[in-house]
Amino acid sequence: MTTRGVVYAEPGARPAVEEITFDPPGANEVQVRVEACGVCHSDLHVVETEGWGMAFPILLGHEGAGVVEDVGDGVTGVVPGDRVVIAWRAPCGNNCPACLRGDPRRCSNNLRARRRMHRASDGALLSPVLRCGTFADRAIVHEACAVKIPVGLPVEQACLLACGFSTGAGAALWATPVRAGASVAVIGCGGVGLAVVQGARLAGAGRIVAVDVVDEKLALARELGATDTVDGRDEDAVAQVRELAGAGVDYAFSAIGSPSGLVDAVRMCAYGGTATLVGVPPPGRTLDLDVADDLFQPKVAIAVTHGGDTIPQMDFPFLAQAALDGKLDLDRFVTKTISLDEVPDALDELHATKGVRTVVRL
Ligand SMILES: [Zn+2]
Ligand SMILES: [Zn+2]
Repeated sequence: MTTRGVVYAEPGARPAVEEITFDPPGANEVQVRVEACGVCHSDLHVVETEGWGMAFPILLGHEGAGVVEDVGDGVTGVVPGDRVVIAWRAPCGNNCPACLRGDPRRCSNNLRARRRMHRASDGALLSPVLRCGTFADRAIVHEACAVKIPVGLPVEQACLLACGFSTGAGAALWATPVRAGASVAVIGCGGVGLAVVQGARLAGAGRIVAVDVVDEKLALARELGATDTVDGRDEDAVAQVRELAGAGVDYAFSAIGSPSGLVDAVRMCAYGGTATLVGVPPPGRTLDLDVADDLFQPKVAIAVTHGGDTIPQMDFPFLAQAALDGKLDLDRFVTKTISLDEVPDALDELHATKGVRTVVRL
């Protein structure tokens, strides 16, 4: 069958919309008619790192939602017509030490579909980003990656659960769970940072201090649950955060890639606090921390999350229901919608984008 998708053909090439073909879903695989896909920084990261280690040509997109259209042999979890969010994390369940001891949030052995999409021009096998490839009308994913969610949630919002929103909210809910009444700092108020704010609010955090260098983002952070904001351009921003929380915060999240964000997060922590790295760092950078004064004496822990450490089959429906119940403001995360043909431009402009999330409607 033929469809269209955004292909990154070779190092240095500009992503472009192309005709693509695909094989039917195999055993335990699901064919999804993609209806919406968020434009996440990780797709730009794929372009900027010339492939992020994947084989060319690459099919971009990994924050998708849609409707199940066809299923392969052995699929029991979904049927055609189900509304699903496509997860890039899918704990193996029974094939790694973490899953076998009942700790699937630590599984790095994700279940994957085979690669089934091809360039129409020469038949070359495409590598879908994170085995999703959802800047395309169709996606074929492992059944474990097709997560059924309530139909009441608009698909433009639902797709954000696939990556950015779950990463941020999951950091505060599951990776380093914020205790009710605890104080929180969030460094960087883009889509992921704002989702940390939302997750912290849902967890019942007492004080949530948002830090960013852009005034509009700080205003949005307040609307989404931050109790205080600090201008990251201030030289004493770290001291301001510490003072707002009394003597530092219990949890500090760095939702920016720069290592300085994690250093600041550590120094914002109160005694016994936890600094969590959420943003993807550039390669080859080191941390400038005093092990005695910054870590041991104040007993500060550093944690890292990948995608909020979610168990998608459990956590995406939970987040979707929380949004339907009005406990999360997912609608505020959709800044604008574009067509598939506008994706190459949207990637070019992503660094300068002011809003939270641009969503492709297919
Ligand atoms: Zn596993
Ligand atoms: Zn992403």
